[in-house]
Amino acid sequence: MSSSPLVLATRSAGKLRELRPLFAAAGIEAIDLRDAGIVESPAEDAIECHDTFEENARAKARYFHRRTGLRVVADDSGLEVLALGGRPGVRSKRWSGRAELSGAALDAANNALLVTSLVGVPDRRARYVCVAAYADNARVFSARGEVEGEMLDVPRGTEGFGYDQYFRSRELGVTFGEASIVAKEVVSHRGRAFRELLRELVAPATAR
Ligand code: IMP
Repeated sequence: MSSSPLVLATRSAGKLRELRPLFAAAGIEAIDLRDAGIVESPAEDAIECHDTFEENARAKARYFHRRTGLRVVADDSGLEVLALGGRPGVRSKRWSGRAELSGAALDAANNALLVTSLVGVPDRRARYVCVAAYADNARVFSARGEVEGEMLDVPRGTEGFGYDQYFRSRELGVTFGEASIVAKEVVSHRGRAFRELLRELVAPATAR
């Protein structure tokens, strides 16, 4: 396997916090987009215009591989709420339509919309989905991970990002806002997708 650094192509501080330990544990030097010298541009949002997590994740990985010339991993992820017909899904990040917001303020607007959308709805089942994608100059591949749970009306915990404080994992019995990064990663959509991607990445060429 190449020893050139691998780029974690995300602007999300929450995703980076979860991804860095996974790559460190696999012995892979991972840098972020800032370290790779890629200044954020409005064009980046347009990359993820597709209707599936797979297409968006692969498009992001290919785009940043073209920009950096380096090995790149990217993810596209989101929350699917059964009673909302799978929404917000691939539109999870911008669901509230508040394009002027970012970070915690954007998360708060999305969560407020989620809570009002579920008023009086008894079926709280939901899942997070993550597709992790890899691109270099020879190949593009991806892996999918999912985690089941249910949505709460009130936030619990102070960890995580996005919808985490409202999402109670069936396997953990607590919200991702109450779980540590390590505990979340064991069952999470992102942990599952990236562990599979890493298995493929470090597999000897003859085993492929
Ligand atoms: P992406 O950057 O287009 O993949 O958007 C991901 C969005 O989905 C985030 O901004 C969150 O709103 C939501 N999301 C994805 N994964 C998680 C997670 O692990 N916790 C909380 N929210 C998440």
